[in-house]
Amino acid sequence: MQACDTLLFAEIIVTQDETRSIIHNGGIAITDGTIVCIDAADTVRSQYTSENVMELGSSLLMPGLINSHTHAAMTLLRGAADDLPLMDWLNNHIFPVEQNLKAEQVELGALLACAEMTRYGTTSFTDMYLIEDATYKAVDQSGLRVLGGEALFMFPSPAYPDFDTGIALVRELESKWRNNPRIRQAVMPHAVYTTTPEILTICREVAEELDLPIHIHLAETQTETQACIESFGKRPVEYAHSLGLLSERTTVAHAVDLTDDEITLLAETGTNVAHNPESNMKLASGMAPIEKMLAKGVNITLGTDGAASNNALNMFTEMASCAFLHKVQHLDPTVASAQTVLDMATCNGSRSMRQPDIGSLAVGQQADIIAIDLTQPNLLPMHNPVSQLVYATTGAEVHMSMVAGDILYQNGKYLRIDYPALIEAAKDVAKWVQKKIQKRS
Ligand SMILES: [Zn+2]
Repeated sequence: MQACDTLLFAEIIVTQDETRSIIHNGGIAITDGTIVCIDAADTVRSQYTSENVMELGSSLLMPGLINSHTHAAMTLLRGAADDLPLMDWLNNHIFPVEQNLKAEQVELGALLACAEMTRYGTTSFTDMYLIEDATYKAVDQSGLRVLGGEALFMFPSPAYPDFDTGIALVRELESKWRNNPRIRQAVMPHAVYTTTPEILTICREVAEELDLPIHIHLAETQTETQACIESFGKRPVEYAHSLGLLSERTTVAHAVDLTDDEITLLAETGTNVAHNPESNMKLASGMAPIEKMLAKGVNITLGTDGAASNNALNMFTEMASCAFLHKVQHLDPTVASAQTVLDMATCNGSRSMRQPDIGSLAVGQQADIIAIDLTQPNLLPMHNPVSQLVYATTGAEVHMSMVAGDILYQNGKYLRIDYPALIEAAKDVAKWVQKKIQKRS
């Protein structure tokens, strides 16, 4: 009998391991934040003992979901402006607030995002925003994992006066947070229409030098494609490729407006795609050709995008939307199966984050685990756990979230966030946001 830090037992474990195995009446043993045994409950009980045994009964355990593209602090702007033409939305509502952001506000917005993600079963996310250092502070407090990056533009941001200072800030943040295993960093040029070829080249060089991933918005709309052709003589994916930006290191967010040749280019270069179906629907950007990309072997991950264009950071509802969108897009209910979509929200996300020890439950993997209450009426009866997770679970059934064996949320309570104080702070910041928008319009 071996001692371990924590033992979990539950009715069903959806592992998302290499064979996508599902364990009925299973157990997980955790030591130092890592899974040391995962098997039938009887087997685990016969081998491991612990002072911390969690008998979760009618629960389903699964890897915490991975949100592969968001702007966490945009929770500040949730519902502040909707149903507007894209340029009016951006220029008169989003940018006037973002241009005036201070670190405290970014940290508050990011903490609110972390609270929402923890509550609804997301344990890791990829984040691009302004004053990203403030987001890292919120992530550090909340206990989640992030792959983050300061958004890099050719114009000033609240975090820096020009690009040279911006890229210096990327280096500074990389060395500041390097030793925090939950906070990893990427180089994140915002998009092709907010940067120059020189900026994108420097971004690639810095990413290669520091061995960091690259994350960029790409091919989101037809408008972007037209502007890219006018400015640089190429479509966005072609243009990014001509600057050496496409590789296994890179994740492109959106990839909506693509030709077949561009899909081939993404596949051949091993570029990851972060698909954001709800944002693409809400902003009327279009429908990403994920079936064609999957057929060519592109690694497709799933993201919510920011809370101003979704408006939730809920990966369960995002999974359902993803499946439904592509079924109706092709008028074919067999596309975007539940298992395909669950992979996008788990193991595919770990690949794009370049963190292979998350996104599945197996020996040696990080204990990033969520528990779902199977006694809720919308999850009864249980025929097929994967179907239930994608088509019937709303995220409200999550009753426990842990990262590296640390419980962050349990039975309605946050263990690392003062949630009542966060509610009050969110009410206060709403007034400031509304003032900034009214001043402009
Ligand atoms: Zn985005």
